[in-house]
Amino acid sequence: MKPIYMDNNATTRVAPEVVQEMLPYFSDLYGNPSSMHAFGGNVGAKLKAAREHVASLLGALPEEILFTSCGTESDSTAIHAAIRAHPEKKHIITTRVEHPAVKNLGEHLAKNGYRVTFVPVDRQGRLDLDYLYKKLSDDTAIVSVMWANNETGTIFPVEEIAKTVRERGIVFHTDAVQAVGKIPIDMADSAIDMLSISGHKLHAPKGIGVLYIRKGTKFAPFLMGGHQEGGRRAGTENSASIIGMGRAAQLVMEYMDDENTRVRALRDKLETELLKRVPNSMVNGDPENRLPNTTSVAFEFIEGEGILLLMDQYGICASSGSACTSGSLEPSHVLRAMGVPFTAAHGSIRYSLSIYNTEEEIDFVIDKMPPIIERLRQMSPFWQQAQKAS
Ligand code: PLP
Repeated sequence: MKPIYMDNNATTRVAPEVVQEMLPYFSDLYGNPSSMHAFGGNVGAKLKAAREHVASLLGALPEEILFTSCGTESDSTAIHAAIRAHPEKKHIITTRVEHPAVKNLGEHLAKNGYRVTFVPVDRQGRLDLDYLYKKLSDDTAIVSVMWANNETGTIFPVEEIAKTVRERGIVFHTDAVQAVGKIPIDMADSAIDMLSISGHKLHAPKGIGVLYIRKGTKFAPFLMGGHQEGGRRAGTENSASIIGMGRAAQLVMEYMDDENTRVRALRDKLETELLKRVPNSMVNGDPENRLPNTTSVAFEFIEGEGILLLMDQYGICASSGSACTSGSLEPSHVLRAMGVPFTAAHGSIRYSLSIYNTEEEIDFVIDKMPPIIERLRQMSPFWQQAQKAS
């Protein structure tokens, strides 16, 4: 059974064009890009081109691009770089809805000598900007706010926040792992100092990430050793993956229009039809400022895990809004921070599309979801209670 893949915020298919571009660098062209001989030098030239492609996607300078191993490494490098560059500052600001790559690091630092402010969100997942601005202080080393939320797709006003943060002389980082490739980004006209990207969210392979570091930003390297990446990240370059990332950056520029027109229309059709056909269903997150590919739909009074299992029988892949912690299903920290009621958070399903999804797939999912929900509700004591009460 061919999967109907609607879990692209978890990971994406590597584009065939990217695979083609990478293959020779696993076999014939295996030279070390830093070697003096032409055999390695040719790989070095290809890495230079890849860096230029990524820079051009972001409106950045090639020397502002640092290749890392993943989005998590980029986030960690940015935050550690800022606190090490400003050792006298002991305060960090982030949000309550970050990916664990930032959230868990923030919680770790909070136990290790830092004051960490987690900015709250409202019921639609929008940030309390007044709260954030009031917390800025001379002791703040870095503000890190994600550009778009991976669970709900909510887009945050990071450009606006970055400007205010810069006026206070504080470093601003954004986790743009879900935003890059879906919405236009131009670092030339921006106050953002550092920005994280992950290859496997935009049709490049797993194991490659990017950290954009604005020229002039104080930076302290995390990995020390050789002078790869301009001395900012030691270790022989992951040539094939960097080359794949460069090709993916070119493709992203080509398909961004499709993402914002055709993919957005598919997402809207899926969402509208599900809300129409399934009673007691609602969308989580800001309906306006949202990624074009994502919808998080809450089906009240049932468990997301049960829904995923039945969807899986048809080969439909998506994610739920709960995570298994210590044997019990807990709604995600994002939905909890938004104050989504337990009965809705538990039955939340995130559908995240890509340019590879088709209208036939959307129609198939629209057809299969209502009976799945109905079947689970017939077995749910919460649903029976709700029916009796109404
Ligand atoms: N940040 C966000 C918003 C994400 O969605 C993810 C992955 O889901 C990450 C960071 C981590 O990226 P990676 O898996 O490349 O470490």
